[in-house]
Amino acid sequence: MDLNTPQDADGIAEHITIAIMEHRLPPGIKLAEEKLAIAFGVGRNKIRQALMALAKEGLVKLHPNRGAFVTSPTVQETRDLFATRRLLEPEIIRNVIHRSTKAQRKPLHAHLKKEALARKNQDRRALIKLSGDFHSLLAEIGGNSFITRIMRQLCPVTSLMHALYDGPQMHACPEDEHSAIVAAIEAQDEKRAIALMLHHLAHVESVLDLSQEQHSAIRWESVFG
Ligand SMILES: [Zn+2]
Repeated sequence: MDLNTPQDADGIAEHITIAIMEHRLPPGIKLAEEKLAIAFGVGRNKIRQALMALAKEGLVKLHPNRGAFVTSPTVQETRDLFATRRLLEPEIIRNVIHRSTKAQRKPLHAHLKKEALARKNQDRRALIKLSGDFHSLLAEIGGNSFITRIMRQLCPVTSLMHALYDGPQMHACPEDEHSAIVAAIEAQDEKRAIALMLHHLAHVESVLDLSQEQHSAIRWESVFG
């Protein structure tokens, strides 16, 4: 147990989220309170709080008698999630183009720099998170608060699907597709920006290997190491 091991429920939830995103905790695996309490060196109460927070985000499913499990989206749910994003994200692009100022779009450029740096450093953990954040950030700048809320809910589940169905090479949004979208937005080219976004979503969905099955034995002592 190193000194960076979190002691509060938020920190524990964050650690579990990262372990899920990095495939160290596969979808469907049982999250036993007792084992987690030992792994984090905290009481079961803290673990329960963390699991409840994760359940709200859709990353964990709680079953009254059987305990907590990493959510295991089915192939159909995965298809449905991308269908939902194909509906929402063109509207987000339209909003960003027509409702935001150049100053409000500044965070997009800062974000692209962070992605480029993470890619250069081959920081997979950062890249997975940044890939999801890009789409939430666009939604926020678009300014439709209902869509923003839905996107915030969809993004972690998208990461989970990547954990479940990713082909061996794919862990985040493909290089440069985000910058192409931002360039089209800055050029106020709505048609092109939407086409690029739809192409991007199709690309991300197409690399998910939806035929693949998961089976792995978990070595709990090394999951959070
Ligand atoms: Zn993306």
